[in-house]
Amino acid sequence: MFVDEARITIKAGDGGDGVISFRKERAQRYGGPDGGSGGRGGDVYLRAVRSMNTLIRFNKKNVFVAADGEDGAPQNRTGKSGEDLRVEVPIGTVVYDADRNVRLADLDQEEKELLIAKGGEGGRGNKRFTDSSRQAPRLRELGAAGERKELKLELELLADVGIIGFPNVGKSSLISKISAQKPKIANYHFTTMDPHPGVVRINDWKDFVAVDIPGLIEGAHDGKGLGNQFLKHLGRTQLLLHLVDISGSEGRDPLEDWRTLRRELVQFDPSLASMGEIVVGNKRDLIDKEQVLRQKERFREETGKKLHPISVATGKGVERLVQSTYDKLEKIWEKEEKEEKEEKEEKERQVYRFSGERGFLVKKEGDRFVVEGKEIERLARNLDFSTTDAADYFYEKLEDEGIIERLENKGAGDGSLVEIGGKEFELAF
Ligand code: GDP
Ligand code: MG
Repeated sequence: MFVDEARITIKAGDGGDGVISFRKERAQRYGGPDGGSGGRGGDVYLRAVRSMNTLIRFNKKNVFVAADGEDGAPQNRTGKSGEDLRVEVPIGTVVYDADRNVRLADLDQEEKELLIAKGGEGGRGNKRFTDSSRQAPRLRELGAAGERKELKLELELLADVGIIGFPNVGKSSLISKISAQKPKIANYHFTTMDPHPGVVRINDWKDFVAVDIPGLIEGAHDGKGLGNQFLKHLGRTQLLLHLVDISGSEGRDPLEDWRTLRRELVQFDPSLASMGEIVVGNKRDLIDKEQVLRQKERFREETGKKLHPISVATGKGVERLVQSTYDKLEKIWEKEEKEEKEEKEEKERQVYRFSGERGFLVKKEGDRFVVEGKEIERLARNLDFSTTDAADYFYEKLEDEGIIERLENKGAGDGSLVEIGGKEFELAF
């Protein structure tokens, strides 16, 4: 199995702050409260897409940050929410929480989405704190921080392109020339013949995986079951680059070699006969232009195939070959996508939810107390305690929710220290 790995950092947007504001009215010095709430920070999703085949793109950019929510404003205007961010990954990407090394999900289907980091809630403005007992609250919350996660992504690389050909035609040379990254090879039980996968990069958004497949001919002679291994590498392969030595060095004839290998191929698996193939004539540097043209003509006449002459040694024709290979792959993918869409219209949409807590929990730790509960922790974290009414308001909430009572039952009293949402409070009765 070839494994591609990447580490990325994602950060959801922070919520905007709520504001304290009062209407300005001619008749009164202060009108009612009209401070708006902050907007929510954008969430981050991972999304499986077909157009990516590798994780190589994350070498370059590996930090993804969703937009923050905007602060609230007077006249009860809510701040704009931050836009969600969708980070595209290849289908088959397995996502781990890198800090805890916990597997979170397997993005095994196209357009599957994973909510991976939640944006922070916007802080409430003073308008939202108004009630019958509090007509002019000097209260507001600050926006909550968006979640930040370190992720490890893992992808089993499946070759899109298989490079085949007789020994010494230049398969290994070609793969090392065109590939930008050599994936880690894991669990390979090969004795002498290792396949060499490589990620071939066109640009930031386009790449494919090619694997050099040795041993087809070698295996055919002594029949050691190499056919199976050969086929295993071709699991997802949709295109073959069939290399011949166009110079006919070592006394070989490229056309005869091509025919022989095609025969072997079909014997291994008849279905391979219909797989797309690009015929590549390597080592063009060893012959002159006339000879190159003659070989091209021979191929066209006798097989109806277009021969792409290249020289891995000088680089001539290689870039064009890579581009044609990608173009051909893209056509294959598009066709495949269309067929799959027709087959199955509905898409699975999996949203990874973070466990929320209802209610609250009061724990005694030594002579301190810890209060846990989603809502109250959120308030403790976000309320702007520098504002005049904050302490009173918070205490009221503790009372309304029954938290004070529970604290007292557990033995808390005047002067006890209570931790809520990472902040410490001293009880004063
Ligand atoms: P493989 O057995 O198909 O993997 O072939 P290799 O990549 O190992 O190459 C076999 C030999 O051919 C090596 O000595 C290479 O240096 C040489 N070779 C590969 N490509 C070219 C080329 O374009 N021109 C010339 N002159 N030699 C090449
Ligand atoms: Mg080789």
